[in-house]
Amino acid sequence: MRNNGIIEVICGPMFSGKTEELIRRLVRAQIAKKTVNIYKHSTDNRYSEDYIVSHNKNRIKCHSVKNTDQILKLSKNIDIIGIDETQFFNESIINTCNQLANYGKRIIIAGLDRDYKAIPFGPMANLLAHADRITKLNAICMVCGNEANFSQRLTNDDSQILVGESEKYEARCRNCYES
Ligand code: ADP
Ligand code: MG
Ligand code: ZN
Repeated sequence: MRNNGIIEVICGPMFSGKTEELIRRLVRAQIAKKTVNIYKHSTDNRYSEDYIVSHNKNRIKCHSVKNTDQILKLSKNIDIIGIDETQFFNESIINTCNQLANYGKRIIIAGLDRDYKAIPFGPMANLLAHADRITKLNAICMVCGNEANFSQRLTNDDSQILVGESEKYEARCRNCYES
């Protein structure tokens, strides 16, 4: 029997439209009457526990989960699986995605490929290596208006994970990014 399983990755800096694109693909899957489950890591509690919300206020219902075991458990009878803020999961997400794809499911992953120091974020680099399809998005540089591929942190906090919005981060191009 043919296996249509696929891992799609949507990546890019903050404000590049990753969540927007994820929601777009998932809404189309719902229109196609597929069974769809959407997950985000419980670390991301910015707007709501029960919704994935994009910066332009699109939103879609989701399950907030703490680990990849929960994703496996909740995805048994599901055709299409979306995961937002995937950078917050540990490396076991790679196995989880491959396992689900091997069952013939379509997995759509969105996440930051690099952190505010511009180094690969969590499992994302590895996931990109395992992906069947990759979409890399750019934001707009808040300093000069060019295409932006960096997430500039605006505060002095130096932990890798600091959940926040435009009060804490800004999209920047290579010229305007300050490391
Ligand atoms: P991401 O998930 O990549 O952080 P979202 O999908 O949540 O991005 O938000 C994308 C939206 O953010 C855009 O459609 C736009 O309305 C808004 N936005 C705010 N700042 C920027 C920026 N610097 N560059 C591009 N879009 C921005
Ligand atoms: Mg997002
Ligand atoms: Zn710039």
